Amino acid sequence: MSGNNTLFWYDHWIGSSNLKSRYPNLFELESKKRCTVADRIGGLNQNWKWETRPVVQGLDSEVHDLINDVSNVQLNSGLDQWRCKLSLDGRFFVAIIRQLVDKLKTINPVAPMIIWSKVVPIKVICLVWRAVQQRIPTATALECRGILVNSTLCSSCIGNFECADHVLINCPFANMIRSCIWSWCGITGEHESIKTISDLIYFASKWGRNKRKRKWFVAICYGMIWNLWRFRNKRLFHRESISVHNGLECIKAMTFFWVKHRSDKGMCSWEEWLISPFYDL
Ligand SMILES: [Zn+2]
Repeated sequence: MSGNNTLFWYDHWIGSSNLKSRYPNLFELESKKRCTVADRIGGLNQNWKWETRPVVQGLDSEVHDLINDVSNVQLNSGLDQWRCKLSLDGRFFVAIIRQLVDKLKTINPVAPMIIWSKVVPIKVICLVWRAVQQRIPTATALECRGILVNSTLCSSCIGNFECADHVLINCPFANMIRSCIWSWCGITGEHESIKTISDLIYFASKWGRNKRKRKWFVAICYGMIWNLWRFRNKRLFHRESISVHNGLECIKAMTFFWVKHRSDKGMCSWEEWLISPFYDL
């Protein structure tokens, strides 16, 4: 860095915070508050310009600490640049933060199993990611946050409390939809062992040996979750009831559209898709 484009006191360029926060008393005595790094420590000597000498104010130990902090800074030519400490070449990528977040201990260990597939729209994956952590606004979740709701019972079966796992997995309506999806995909067994959204996400992420089939199956599972939440909202807010048959058709159509337009590989026709999503695989 040359220090010409970096504000000495305001920018966070050295240490754990900016120098204004770390040395507020010295900052008060600074005669040019918006001076650059080059103004103060460029050249052979440090060029302090105080309004009143800090030593008179009894701030000599702070001056000593400040000088100590900046004493090893080497300025050179060129523009000042930000460097990301997480990457080897100093360049910042969102993917680096994503990897870091995934490595952190998450509330639900299954959350990293979520597949951020290009076949599935990002808003759908975000809903799934939130649902895995029970962070979608179901009636019980809202009540936990102190929001008044008319009822915490499921609007479909009226027999159970409405939580994320119930609406998307255990409600008889969700159960029937999943059962139909399973038979459409040719999956036998495993249906009963899925009790939570985490179970479903884990199952989908490990299912089968054919990567392309798994990719599409993941898209179907995420599409199912997205639509079950949509059906619940329609039922609750628009008093629209969706039958299992119509719900299933809706999921098949939406996931066909995703795979056809968002996948880079060719695929079967709509008629073939209705028979099996893995018709030509
Ligand atoms: Zn229910």
